[in-house]
Amino acid sequence: MKNIEKEINDLRTTLRYHSDRYYNDDAPEIEDYEYDMMMRRLKELEEKYPEFDTPDSPTKRVGGKADNTFESVTHTVRMESLQDAFSKEEIFDFARRVNDSVSDVHYVVEPKIDGLSVSLEYVDGVFYRGSTRGDGDVGEDVSGNLRVIRNVPLKLKKSLPYIEVRGEVYMPKKSFDKVVDRQLINGEKPFKNPRNAAAGSLRQKDSEVTAGRGLDIFIFNIQQIEGEALTSHKQSLDYLKELGFNTVPYYERVDTIEQAFSKVEQIGEMRGELEFDIDGAVIKVDDFSDRELLGSTAKYPKWAVAFKYPPEEKQTRIVDIEITVGRTGKLTPTAVLEPVHLAGTTVSRATLHNQDFIVQKGVNIGDIITVRKAGDIIPEVLCVNEKHSEGCFVYPTHCPSCNQTLVSEEGEVDIRCINPECPAQLLRNLIHFCSRDAMDIEGLGPSIIETFVENGMIKDISDIYHLNAQDISSLDGFQTTSANNIISSVEKSKNNDLGKLIFAFGIRHIGAKAAKLLSDYFKNIDAVMNAEVDDILKIDGFGDVMAKAVYDYFHSQGAVELVSELKTIGVNTQSKTVIKDNRFEGKTFVLTGTLPTLKRSEASKIIESFGGKTSSSVSKKTDFVLSGEASGSKLDKANALGITVIDENEFLEMIK
Ligand code: NAD
Repeated sequence: MKNIEKEINDLRTTLRYHSDRYYNDDAPEIEDYEYDMMMRRLKELEEKYPEFDTPDSPTKRVGGKADNTFESVTHTVRMESLQDAFSKEEIFDFARRVNDSVSDVHYVVEPKIDGLSVSLEYVDGVFYRGSTRGDGDVGEDVSGNLRVIRNVPLKLKKSLPYIEVRGEVYMPKKSFDKVVDRQLINGEKPFKNPRNAAAGSLRQKDSEVTAGRGLDIFIFNIQQIEGEALTSHKQSLDYLKELGFNTVPYYERVDTIEQAFSKVEQIGEMRGELEFDIDGAVIKVDDFSDRELLGSTAKYPKWAVAFKYPPEEKQTRIVDIEITVGRTGKLTPTAVLEPVHLAGTTVSRATLHNQDFIVQKGVNIGDIITVRKAGDIIPEVLCVNEKHSEGCFVYPTHCPSCNQTLVSEEGEVDIRCINPECPAQLLRNLIHFCSRDAMDIEGLGPSIIETFVENGMIKDISDIYHLNAQDISSLDGFQTTSANNIISSVEKSKNNDLGKLIFAFGIRHIGAKAAKLLSDYFKNIDAVMNAEVDDILKIDGFGDVMAKAVYDYFHSQGAVELVSELKTIGVNTQSKTVIKDNRFEGKTFVLTGTLPTLKRSEASKIIESFGGKTSSSVSKKTDFVLSGEASGSKLDKANALGITVIDENEFLEMIK
């Protein structure tokens, strides 16, 4: 029994942790299927051992908590979740439970959109408020962000006193690809899947960010309505269309559970071709009076069930292993497969993650492997079933894109190409080079750089300095003035301090501050390039990883060539920082007698250059008397006032 209680508690802790990552951070760490299986096990245990059941168990809770970024909205009609099923038997069990309470049942089947649930409210036909589901009872007011979604009507085609509808905000696959592309270019962590991307985009503080994410919405339910009497779900979906809503597509009313299940299978077959992600299909009892008789549990209505397509696995052969270089220089291995039909799509490629994964699984070209596709996540190689040849695939030592030596960093599984001129990473490097903390080239933002690259005007970093106003103004959308402005900011950037240039190279682990330290310490680019790891380690704040990154970067052929070209172009490669040493600030010196080597005028200059002052007479305010041979009354006065008297040797020691 102790073991059971422990398993229950462990499951609850793990589920709560993953629920938090999923709903509150929009960054899941495990696949939905894994999460659902754990939830299932917990439900089974709680049913079998009711003595351990608690009302706050994750099996009884809906979604995540509303946080305080937005105003809270209390839902008058609870936004429930759905019970799930993973097999035909479970769907038929659901129908049996329904038939125990009602007879002559009709069902509506719809795709289950993988997005996030929202409520939209309209007063007198005008959009009034929109909110997230939250925990089902309290959500967040995200009206501003919903307004910018094109398919959220701001005015309905018919004016009703009040209507609240429920729908799913989702990110179409095309928008998702674009958003992830942009995130990779900007060096941000990309969204894991369209569902998390939709949730992250809808809960933005700035509606403009939401607007740029290409979100869309499908409406699938009327929560409340005044001014119209509807009796079935099918009728309400048709009515929603008339009001101007983008209703959930492919819905169909059927007469039996057998027909409902074949519609579920049909939707499953379409899955790969749809422009949006679905994670299942929903079977709903059609008639509202039947629904009322069936009622709800604490978490979901008893009149609906979501069939979740389980991840499919199949065996196939690896015909090749391709290595691609991402925009961050990271190498990604992909298995090219003999095509298999999996989860509604033809799969011909699967990820192998990294070199460690290949070694662990012992994967090689020609092997028969098992490939798995869960949800719409990229298919992955699960295991090797039959080896074609001994050993595993040998990773390249040189970049497949630019042929330069690859680098692997301690403690990291990824292998990278760090060549700044590597064509595979060009765009990202260019954007970073021109950014504000780097060379600060005003007017050369990400989209303009992209245009110049597409038009062949920039092929490497040094090409930025070969741009000319005439070529720029010949492009669509560019005026002579804007072209001239770009050229003058490019020119201006040639005079930047060395620290900005080093940061602009985008060396891994070297941020703006570290770049400035390198510049201040080595003073010019040649000294940085000639420095050994041990020399770099002398800089306060530099550890092994940073020092090695700098050393590796400047020892790549690409960096050597780039620096030489930039020098020829006239880009500044010297530190401009003048280090001011104010060690004598606030101190007054009086000089007396003849010093052994220094002239008094020289000594005065040195004192002033360190921020000190000289005076001709000794007073209480004097800090030091620098005394040489044959000093007279000034020395006597200093002694009388107890002022520190130093000789030239001591003085030279002080300025060392
Ligand atoms: P759910 O997603 O299984 O089902 C309910 C939701 O389906 C509703 O909120 C509704 O908005 C949506 N929906 C989409 N199309 C619909 C349609 N046509 N009709 C009715 N509803 C439709 O349940 P849930 O409670 O929202 O979330 C649980 C899901 O989240 C599970 O699939 C689970 O795997 C996943 N999850 C994953 C993790 C993880 O770490 N991977 C963590 C927590 C939850």
